Amino acid sequence: ERSVLDQVLATRILDVLDYPKPGIVFKDITPLLGDPTAFGTVVGAMAEQVRASGATRIAGLEARGFLLAAPVALAAGVGFVPVRKAGKLPRATYREDYALEYATATIEVHRDAFVPGERVMIVDDILATGGTAVAAAKLVRDAGAVPVGLSVLMELGFLGGRERFAASAPDIGIHTL
Ligand code: AMP
Repeated sequence: ERSVLDQVLATRILDVLDYPKPGIVFKDITPLLGDPTAFGTVVGAMAEQVRASGATRIAGLEARGFLLAAPVALAAGVGFVPVRKAGKLPRATYREDYALEYATATIEVHRDAFVPGERVMIVDDILATGGTAVAAAKLVRDAGAVPVGLSVLMELGFLGGRERFAASAPDIGIHTL
């Protein structure tokens, strides 16, 4: 139910000022993870989006995306694929480099992670600048699958992630709780 979900999001995600550095407001989801009723509400809502999308696989983004994506995959009855930071996956991968504020990052996925052509929902906790989500969508495509949606708890709208993601992948729906 929407009002329950709204209450969970409003009370179980904390704003932490000036973390990890001055001027950043860090969204701390650990209270949400620690409350099984709240966690279950969020996982159930995301799983419903997965069912509605027809996705047959979830791609979860390291690290906090994993915490949501794995239970969502189980709840929706589909498989989970980890999209990991460089150097963590043991077998052959596709890689994607992307720009962060003052550096670059690389994420990877196993080359055989997906059934060719299958529909994939990308799951993370937060859409900020959109750089991570854009790179993840590219990786899913490189690996032969079709990204059909991006599911996140929240967007930091002032960072323009929605616009950046839409410019790069206009066909992929953004589902924000
Ligand atoms: P971006 O690539 O800029 O969209 O950043 C997305 C990633 O950075 C997500 O995986 C988030 O976990 C993390 N992130 C960005 N900004 C914040 C924030 N203010 N609080 C918590 N996590 C954040």
